[in-house]
Amino acid sequence: MKNKHNRKRAGWLEGLLISTIVMLTAFIVFFIFFNGDSKFQRTAVTSANASEGSTPTINETNSVKYPGVRILSEVVNDDSLRYHINYPQTKFDAVNNKILQYITTSKENYINSLRLKNNVDVKAKGNLLIDYDIYEYKNKYYSIVFTEKVSLDSIVYNTSTETFFINKETGEIIAPINLLNKKVENLNLLAKHVRTQLSEDKKYKQYIFQNELIAATRPYWDNFSRFAIIGDSLVFYYDKGEIAARNVGNPTLSIPLSYINPILTDELKSGTTSEINILTPKKPVKSSNGKKVALTFDDGPHPSVTKQILKTLAKYDAKATFFMVGSNVSNYPTIAKEVYNSGHEIGNHTWNHANLTRLSSKQIASQLDRTNNAIFNAIGEYPTVFRPPYGAKNNQVVKASAVPVVMWTIDTLDWKYRNSNKLLPMVKSNMHNNAIILMHDIHQTTASGLDSVLNYLDQSGYEFVTVSEILEARK
Ligand code: ZN
Repeated sequence: MKNKHNRKRAGWLEGLLISTIVMLTAFIVFFIFFNGDSKFQRTAVTSANASEGSTPTINETNSVKYPGVRILSEVVNDDSLRYHINYPQTKFDAVNNKILQYITTSKENYINSLRLKNNVDVKAKGNLLIDYDIYEYKNKYYSIVFTEKVSLDSIVYNTSTETFFINKETGEIIAPINLLNKKVENLNLLAKHVRTQLSEDKKYKQYIFQNELIAATRPYWDNFSRFAIIGDSLVFYYDKGEIAARNVGNPTLSIPLSYINPILTDELKSGTTSEINILTPKKPVKSSNGKKVALTFDDGPHPSVTKQILKTLAKYDAKATFFMVGSNVSNYPTIAKEVYNSGHEIGNHTWNHANLTRLSSKQIASQLDRTNNAIFNAIGEYPTVFRPPYGAKNNQVVKASAVPVVMWTIDTLDWKYRNSNKLLPMVKSNMHNNAIILMHDIHQTTASGLDSVLNYLDQSGYEFVTVSEILEARK
């Protein structure tokens, strides 16, 4: 009897204990959520970690350097989940919300990546660091630049940047479209400049991912949203691995404002002006004795011959024009890009070297379009001239081309002789001012004979220009 009674009492005590634990847990969970919500009215920011069971330590101070700015720092020091986030808040709700949105998303992404990792090996340790800098411009604007570093098991696997450019008097968030007077032609100029500068930058040059760079600098407003004005320069930010190999870190590009003054909105124009700007042609035409020649190379690009020709041209600082076959461009996009980067003009020479006079207008259009697109994909620009294979053209062909149709005035017959010693005599005996010389960058013999041709023309006082420049000179 006694034993039975005791067992009954023990059962009742267990029940009480369990319900006490349940209530206590519920209260703690409620307290954490409620506390997180009410403390700074930042539901979104704190809820992500509340669900992880870690209460952040939050500090708030007023910025001495930037009046009206409050600085918040949020720290969690759990073994498995660490983060340290510093961020500013202004007197403008719209700005604050944008910043909080960014912080929350970053935190959620971090926690999610940690969760994924924890499914595989249980005790991954993570760390998220977000810090910021503020730069003031004209006593009227703030650039807020966030840098974010995420590591898992002490390996930094991502660093990225986010920026906000605001009018500190009105709280207006200024987008790239507002920088450039809402003009797409200004965006085109800027995009082109950014692309060229990045691909020519000594730090990144050999590490650039061409396709990614082209995509990141296509003239879309969104592509230029991560920027700041620091000192007297406009700075663009790219993430690690976004446009170049990860070993170069986070690429940035700084452009003096004076250089882009002509396309900037009045309020942002720099006070200093410079002799050159984004509208100045890249290479002013040399004042010469007026003797000009346009070298043209058809049917490439070719992986070895084209490269050798580029080297010889560089030796004489000569610019030329390459009429490329679309299918070759799609096979060797990096060679096409190298030609373009070396400052030469790129022309369309159909997709597969078709005789266009034998095709329907639909087929002609397809030959040109496919090639235009292959060239755009490779170099980020459309070709500026067109030459029909075999020089075969009629009205239909001429009408189909949106760019000038360019023939030649001297045929070296390099395709026929395939003899490097015959190249120079052919040029010599036919040479005249404003000549357009036809050669092919698919024959090794042409590459081998080119140096003597360039040497001769150089000695004779000719300036090597693109076909577009010859067409201009002839007007
Ligand atoms: Zn050809």
